[in-house]
Amino acid sequence: MFSTVLSATLRGLFVEFVQVEADTSNGLPMFHMVGYLSSEVKEAGERVRTAIKNSGVALPAKKIVINLSPANMRKKGSMFDLPIAIAILASLGEVEEVRLRDALLVGELSLDGAVKHVPGILPIVMEAKKRGCRVCIVPKENQKEGSLVDGIQVIGVENLAEVYEILKGKHSEGYRKKQENESWDIHFHETKLDYSDIHGQRIAKRAAEIAVAGNHNMLMIGPPGTGKSMIAKRIPTILPPLTKEESMELTMIYSVIGGLNQDSPLMRERPFREVHQSVTKTALIGGGTIPKPGEISLAHKGVLFLDEIAEFQKPVIELLRQPMEEHQIKILRERGEYLFPAEFLLVAAMNPCPCGNYPDLNKCMCTTPQIRNYLGRISQPFLDRIDICVEVEKIQYQDLQNEGEEETSQTIRERVSAAREIQRKRYQELGILTNSELKVKDVEKYCHLGVKEERMMRQAFERMNLTARMYYKVLAVARTIADLEGKENIELVHLAEALSYRSMDQKYWGGGEA
Ligand SMILES: [Zn+2]
Repeated sequence: MFSTVLSATLRGLFVEFVQVEADTSNGLPMFHMVGYLSSEVKEAGERVRTAIKNSGVALPAKKIVINLSPANMRKKGSMFDLPIAIAILASLGEVEEVRLRDALLVGELSLDGAVKHVPGILPIVMEAKKRGCRVCIVPKENQKEGSLVDGIQVIGVENLAEVYEILKGKHSEGYRKKQENESWDIHFHETKLDYSDIHGQRIAKRAAEIAVAGNHNMLMIGPPGTGKSMIAKRIPTILPPLTKEESMELTMIYSVIGGLNQDSPLMRERPFREVHQSVTKTALIGGGTIPKPGEISLAHKGVLFLDEIAEFQKPVIELLRQPMEEHQIKILRERGEYLFPAEFLLVAAMNPCPCGNYPDLNKCMCTTPQIRNYLGRISQPFLDRIDICVEVEKIQYQDLQNEGEEETSQTIRERVSAAREIQRKRYQELGILTNSELKVKDVEKYCHLGVKEERMMRQAFERMNLTARMYYKVLAVARTIADLEGKENIELVHLAEALSYRSMDQKYWGGGEA
């Protein structure tokens, strides 16, 4: 008898449906699997037969052929175990085929018949719903994740015997069970960290506020021990909360890497990903034979922090340029391209020289070539993509005296949220959320300058030897500063402050085309 079961697999963040067909006949007893299978899927045969036997069903001595279609698609992973087992049972008349209509099954089996969790359940259930499926049978550990999708029933199962019972109709409440979907509410970052912990560093804290308000990439430069990473690590405390749509988008990415909490799968906080200097290209931007998202995509809608960026391998830093610009990453493979979102706020910190004390020549022990070589690890094209470059200096004695006068993260976050709201409304038609996403043609329109401001900009452009890309970035940052004040127009003071965040790269790197 012939039977078919619907299943699915992932291609990056995309879902591809797979039809698992089984045919049993009275030929020479054998077990055969076809359909462009990877070795993992080929091994499923052995696993599935043992799991069926250990679930109390004796397989008759028949010829069993399994086919996974479409034939031109390479099938990988162990998520087809469960649908293969059920297709076999259906072809033997052990389960009612009618119950398999409008159902999708995924899950890995262990030899004792237990159903083990698999990655990517959220996107799979979402697509199953779009396709018109009524029910998804998934591993118990993935049930809450699947249940994030409204309007489709998700049944979590612990073992093969349970699926068998459900499909035989013995325990039909499985099909009717009321689902508890995880409710959505505004959620703030939970941490003990707060900007009021940092005394002084007014300029760097202000720069962080602007960076977050307009989603502008930021580089902090200064000697060790000045609190650069303290400032960076508190950025999550001033990020506006995720919207429900953003949360689902992020949860999809973490679903694909199997990185969700089983009990509370919804991603409620913006991510803060700190990557280490030893990070590989693949870990950073994503990759693998069937590519998976890397750190830049795991930082989607949040922060990617690179401490001591000058210590990273130069090619690794350069890889960030394209996603910093396009807010997504494209990975090319023989069988097509894979797109992953990468809308992150880049925050980087570095010492100005190997000893960290330059330009304090009383303390810096480095030679000029050493300093140049060190700073040279950050290329001009990379600097061009930084919107805010700020110097973090040694804390002054009087700053330590001003205890209790520092602003809290909550106060800063309220300003940031207000500025983000202004941007969201202004750019509704463009489909963007922040000033940093403005395209060149839109910068001219939304960052219009008055006569005096225009004059200041022209002078600065020549004096600071700005590149065209920097010029537009200065305008976008000035727009954010005006938005933080709730001002309609960019004024001289906003522009001057935006320009000040370009003077550091001129001081250290000479600015413009070095
Ligand atoms: Zn030095």
